[in-house]
Amino acid sequence: MFITNVRETLQRCVDYHGHFCAGQSLGVRIAKKGLELVAPEDLKDLIVFIENDRCIADAVLIATGTRLGRRNLKYVDYGRMAATFINLKKDIAWRVSLNPSEKENNSGEDAKEKVLTVSDEELLVWQKVKVSLKKEDLPGKPLRTVPCAKCGEKIFDGKDAVDPATGDGPLCRACLGGSYYEEVG
Ligand SMILES: [Zn+2]
Ligand SMILES: [Zn+2]
Repeated sequence: MFITNVRETLQRCVDYHGHFCAGQSLGVRIAKKGLELVAPEDLKDLIVFIENDRCIADAVLIATGTRLGRRNLKYVDYGRMAATFINLKKDIAWRVSLNPSEKENNSGEDAKEKVLTVSDEELLVWQKVKVSLKKEDLPGKPLRTVPCAKCGEKIFDGKDAVDPATGDGPLCRACLGGSYYEEVG
């Protein structure tokens, strides 16, 4: 799995994302570098962590073929222009991020074209990393499903926990740590 035709890949990203922006160019460059570094023979060997939910996230998922709903794309809310590529078969992982010194040069209207032409070294930084993936986080059938002792909703994939203070559980993260929403009415 390699990106051999950047323009063709970019066009598929633009079609999905809805506009051509520097994020599509950067996302394709990050995906291309990441795939070169971990060289998966098959999509089933690949897991990608994306570190923001801005434009590059769409480019990375289209360019790599990974999907959130297939569990081979993981979203971590760091707000950074970076992604990590894991080859499960080879047991290697590389994190690819935007070179901090490039940030200023690649803003504005010209950026989306310029990002396509600069060298990997100018644009990106890459680092070998280790990622601890739980077996519950891998693609495949759910290994564990339990009802929350408080709200009663099913909790998949080992996301349940016991309240360390009271010993109550299993609890979903919303019931244990507070949720992003409040019930009204
Ligand atoms: Zn965009
Ligand atoms: Zn709950």
